Amino acid sequence: MNIPLAAAPHAVPAEADAYKHVAGNLRTVLDRIAAAARRAGRRPEEVTLVAVSKTHPAAAVQAALAAGQLHFGENRVQEAAQKFPALRAAHPSLRLHIIGGLQTNKARDAVRIADVIESLDRPRLADAIADAIQKEGRAPALLIQVNVGDEAQKSGISRADTDRFVEACRGRFGAALAGLMCIPPADADPAPHFAWLAGCAARHGLPVVSMGMSGDFETAIAHGATHVRVGTAVFGARG
Ligand SMILES: *Cc1c(COP(=O)(O)O)cnc(C)c1O
Repeated sequence: MNIPLAAAPHAVPAEADAYKHVAGNLRTVLDRIAAAARRAGRRPEEVTLVAVSKTHPAAAVQAALAAGQLHFGENRVQEAAQKFPALRAAHPSLRLHIIGGLQTNKARDAVRIADVIESLDRPRLADAIADAIQKEGRAPALLIQVNVGDEAQKSGISRADTDRFVEACRGRFGAALAGLMCIPPADADPAPHFAWLAGCAARHGLPVVSMGMSGDFETAIAHGATHVRVGTAVFGARG
């Protein structure tokens, strides 16, 4: 899809209209984040909303930017590379998070366009990212994705291997290794998984804990999430 992104700041009214629900949704989600933080005895500013814009067009992202949203999440590098460079040119403080499983052959593109890669989940990918950082001369912040439910079909490092992988990545990436991310099992109470991830990050002195989606971000905040990744509740259902 080749939307003329350079013209996007002057998006045609019809296109902007199609996404006028986004500003209201954002306000609702931010209010819910603030309330959940206060209930947990935390400050609302401790939680960053990453608006997950995967499958939604650049015009939807524009609507969110116009409402003041700066952090966005995409799960596919190719889609992000099509949508985001022009948006970033128009909004230099935009922050792009890559949140989906990353093939090693996409590592270089991810390092080129992302501010945060949340899906570092295996040694081979760490190799590819380290190589890409060298070649691109820029280093996104990195989060290690943990397969907290040890689910066979899900990506992420196993709980048992997390300590070792964190130490290896810290040695290699230094402060660029910023934290941990997880997607708990869909059919279980996420709370113990969130608690485990936050505890693990704390043990390692890692400041970022990315957990919680549209269905469970308040629970994640109660357990220490610093970043919540919310798609549906911001942009609506994905087609
Ligand atoms: C799609 C996605 C989300 C957002 O999911 P919603 O349920 O739409 O809020 C969060 N994290 C990851 C890794 C995703 O792929």
